[in-house]
Amino acid sequence: MIECTNCETAQFLQITQSRVFFEDGELINEIMETYQCTLCDSTGQYTYSEDAEDPIVDGSIQVTGERPKYA
Ligand SMILES: [Zn+2]
Repeated sequence: MIECTNCETAQFLQITQSRVFFEDGELINEIMETYQCTLCDSTGQYTYSEDAEDPIVDGSIQVTGERPKYA
């Protein structure tokens, strides 16, 4: 899951931009999402590419594999 590094929660993140890039008109090659935290106004970008093993994260967001302790 993706959370704000300032607030350390995903609760206030919203996707402001989402793009999907296609290769040969069929396969999804890359996904790019821009996030903004509605609490502290931090922004970040998340890019997933089939060519890369790990997603690329930029800005004031982080990807965690953990579930929230209390939803
Ligand atoms: Zn925040």
